[in-house]
Amino acid sequence: MYRRNIKHILIPLAAGLALVIGYNLFLKPILPPMVQRTETVEPVAPPPAPPRSGSPESEDKSVRVLDHSLVPPTPHGGLLEAIRDEIEKHNLSLAETKLKELPSAVLSDATSRPFVAILWNNLGLQQERLNGTRASVKAFKLAADLDDSNSVILMNLAHAYWEQRDRGLNAEFLMKLMKVAPEEPFPHLAMADLLQEQDELQEAAKHLDQAADRARHDPGLRSYLAAVTTKVRRTQSVESRMTAKSSTHFVVKFDGEEDQNTWISALEILEEAYREIGQKFSHFPSKPIMVVLHAKDSFQGATGSPAWADGLYDPTLGRIQIPTQGATTDPKWLASVLRHEYVHALLHDRFGANSGALPTWLNEGLAMQLAGDAWPELDRAMRGDITVIPLAYLEGSWGALPASASTVAYAEANSATRYLIERWGMARVDELLNALQAKSSVADAIQNKLSVSYEQFHRQWLESFEASQP
Ligand SMILES: [Zn+2]
Repeated sequence: MYRRNIKHILIPLAAGLALVIGYNLFLKPILPPMVQRTETVEPVAPPPAPPRSGSPESEDKSVRVLDHSLVPPTPHGGLLEAIRDEIEKHNLSLAETKLKELPSAVLSDATSRPFVAILWNNLGLQQERLNGTRASVKAFKLAADLDDSNSVILMNLAHAYWEQRDRGLNAEFLMKLMKVAPEEPFPHLAMADLLQEQDELQEAAKHLDQAADRARHDPGLRSYLAAVTTKVRRTQSVESRMTAKSSTHFVVKFDGEEDQNTWISALEILEEAYREIGQKFSHFPSKPIMVVLHAKDSFQGATGSPAWADGLYDPTLGRIQIPTQGATTDPKWLASVLRHEYVHALLHDRFGANSGALPTWLNEGLAMQLAGDAWPELDRAMRGDITVIPLAYLEGSWGALPASASTVAYAEANSATRYLIERWGMARVDELLNALQAKSSVADAIQNKLSVSYEQFHRQWLESFEASQP
């Protein structure tokens, strides 16, 4: 028989915040040994998604909508007017059906064709308001096919591509966008991103400069660009002396030639992670993933991360960075760190520009659960006398957490995610991720996909944890 001894206590939080219920677990009378921070640490904060002029978050929504009040004087005017009215009445599926059924004579007519493009654009914006860019990208694509000289349409399409990680945002499209929207920083920023992925860091830095030139009146974007530029230049200088080896799905860079074995075993570990974790998670990365193996003493300077970090996934440059110790690198440690970081890379690939929508506790929890990290210290920490940090406080960056709290954070992330997977199964976790990706709040996503409230989930998780203890 176990004792039901979770004590509910109120933790007063900073002024302005409501009181939240915390839990104290006293499941074992003795304090756990202080956990050594030996596992992976993430970069302090993921970079913000680059702001875009006219994005849905921005104040100025009018930039994205095109005026469709004046139907051009063509024999098909009545037809176009009817579609416009359906869009205005928000009868979106009817408007879409009518647009698709337009006779080819309308589309080949030079006067009505650009107007049909405008209708598709405005329909796309309405669809996006309801269901995000996943729903709007098709309409913008059709609009751009009809009129690729309209900068508003192309910017809307670029924005949807960016958010959806759509491969349509390629160099050819971006060159076209730069031509029709020469004052926009975004095409240069996206081009830099593309070049970073292809490891063309010098060219990427040039486009970052061009983006900065065009972002003179946007201090937020300028400081973001400055941070990325610093990172790109530092990485370029660090990696210029490295050698690279590729497998089917990874590029592994290594500084120093002396240890071929670590290099080879890293590639083997990663390819196995690709197959195994990809199957569990039903997602495979859309492009090869870059992994950089640093000599331990140069890791800190090269990545700007704390000296004690065991590795990190850098979402800005899309790189897994690992400090190694040459031939003395422990293969078990290497496998554990690489697999853990690989899950972060996979989640970043899946969430794309919406990475911020994934709560950190779930990101870390999935990394630990899917990588199969054996991390007994964490379970021990959960069994000890700890003050549980409500999951809602572990959704953002953990960078500012003190060391003791960050151990608790990892322990909770691991335990809550294990409970999530065991009770609801991976298929439901997948639906939860889709909802978050579509910008649902964590509370709404849990309510809609798991049919319990965030609070119920929290309470049931802690109760089940308590019940499972001997
Ligand atoms: Zn992690």
